[in-house]
Amino acid sequence: MKTLEQVRAQLKHYPVEVEFPDIAKWQHGNTGVDYVHSIDSGVAGPHVMILALMHGNEVSGAITVGRLLQAGLRPLKGRITLGFANVEAYRRFDARNPDATRYVDEDMNRVWSSSRLDGAEDSVELRRARELRPIIDTVDYMLDLHSMHEEAPPLIVSGPLEKGIRFAADVGAPEHVIIDVGHPNGKRMRDYAGFGDPASAKNALLIETGQHFSTRSKDVAMDSACRFLIATGVMAELDLRAFMLAGAPAPQRFFRVTEPVVATSYDFEFAEDYRGMEIIAKAGTVIAREGAREFVTPYDNCVIVMPSLRQLGPGVTVVRLGHVVAR
Ligand SMILES: [Zn+2]
Repeated sequence: MKTLEQVRAQLKHYPVEVEFPDIAKWQHGNTGVDYVHSIDSGVAGPHVMILALMHGNEVSGAITVGRLLQAGLRPLKGRITLGFANVEAYRRFDARNPDATRYVDEDMNRVWSSSRLDGAEDSVELRRARELRPIIDTVDYMLDLHSMHEEAPPLIVSGPLEKGIRFAADVGAPEHVIIDVGHPNGKRMRDYAGFGDPASAKNALLIETGQHFSTRSKDVAMDSACRFLIATGVMAELDLRAFMLAGAPAPQRFFRVTEPVVATSYDFEFAEDYRGMEIIAKAGTVIAREGAREFVTPYDNCVIVMPSLRQLGPGVTVVRLGHVVAR
């Protein structure tokens, strides 16, 4: 039986191309919650939030939120809130072990259910989520900025509801829209409360901007954040143009996730060096092995969504499978 360290030692090493910003200067905000700042236009409108660092080593979001804070945004209407989530994990980042600081005690993007948040358990992540919760409860539109373990095309996660899919189309980038129901081991922020309720007008998106430490990922994060602010009507494109990628974004393509592939040990291995968004033509193609067990594609034209072994372990989702959705 392998260990996680042995698994990680065999994976591609990604250079840290970007500087990790010092976010200590953003500790004291105006919301009563550390590392959360709000800019109110004074005009009626939606409360829009961009949140970085749900995972402590996902620096592209932290760079983006830092730059937006520095820019001194002036919303046309409503309120813009900018925040850093798992600051404690971010503080512990060590470039020699860059995958270790995704979280301190547990994955912060799996605690967003009232049963966990109101429960008696304690962890660094639950404590921070409980601090953030009163603000998040007042947010109409949420953008949760993430990045990926592997170099892969950026994608926007709409959740399973039609309102989320429409919101992803309104934002218009990145190109790949992933329609999914989340993970069996806990609720994500983007599915929390009203965001996951079809009857609520609240809406949330999660964007995976590319590999954690790449320059491109940082640029995609900024571009996506700007498009989100424009789509929600709180900022004009003219005021954000300088932060955005040049040229029109590629037409979006939509993919529905049908199932997770969950490892049961550290012996799980992919059959190919998948990077994500590959389309496997034939049903029954072996895509992974774990000891004697083979994992095969369940249908033709099966799409590989965010494969990674960096957080491998029993019960961990290592890839999700989906199909193309015509829209
Ligand atoms: Zn993440």
